Amino acid sequence: MGRFRPLLGIVLAIVATCLVACGGPATKIPTTYTPEILQQVELYSPGVASLRDRFPELQGYIQNQDWVNVQSFIHGPMGELRSRMNRLAGTLLTKDKPQAQSLAKELYVHLERLDEAAASGQQVVAGQEYRNALDDFDAFLSLVPTFQ
Ligand code: ZN
Repeated sequence: MGRFRPLLGIVLAIVATCLVACGGPATKIPTTYTPEILQQVELYSPGVASLRDRFPELQGYIQNQDWVNVQSFIHGPMGELRSRMNRLAGTLLTKDKPQAQSLAKELYVHLERLDEAAASGQQVVAGQEYRNALDDFDAFLSLVPTFQ
């Protein structure tokens, strides 16, 4: 049995190489939304939409200088936002994906700054970061076909 092992190894290596080589370039990059891709988008849209609906709750807390709730809202309900947006961005067309991913990242930076502003009770900064975050959120959604 032992002397067949190396041969089996070579055969497996060839098969693996072929699977990688044949699987890669053969898949065409879609430039429009097919029903199959839309299904993926629709799978991840509701999770992001529900957080967008709740997002203005932050504004109320900022107006009331309710910093405890600002911070627990960012770390609680909005804690899932980044990963949900990234999953949704991953389903978008190749031409929109990088922009969606960078908007998701930017939004997260604004939320981090809002968190810091809340920790030090800076209402003006908090309000600015809230608006910046909202702008990035809506720019992100404008790239998603289910929100257009
Ligand atoms: Zn921004």
